[in-house]
Amino acid sequence: MTPSGVAVPTSSRCVHHPDREGIGVCVRCRQVVCAECATKIDRINYCHRCLATLSAEGRVTAPRRATAEKATAVALLVVSFLVLTGFFVGMGLLMTTLR
Ligand SMILES: [Zn+2]
Ligand SMILES: [Zn+2]
Repeated sequence: MTPSGVAVPTSSRCVHHPDREGIGVCVRCRQVVCAECATKIDRINYCHRCLATLSAEGRVTAPRRATAEKATAVALLVVSFLVLTGFFVGMGLLMTTLR
């Protein structure tokens, strides 16, 4: 009674790299992909092929755009902070001058 024929499930192997361990399944084609083959967008895995198809259809925004939006948000935050600081400093100066 030795289950020697029962091997460890090797279902999680990259379809493009059989020697590599798959880290996720493409939500579109249901194929297991490794870290190199998978691209995560909003915590969802896409394989190279599906990503190319989705990009061509314009359904997926490029990661560069998201980075640019983030940079703009940070810039806005910094600018508003500087404006607020300047406002308070100006008010402080005004108060001391009035006294
Ligand atoms: Zn796919
Ligand atoms: Zn791979």
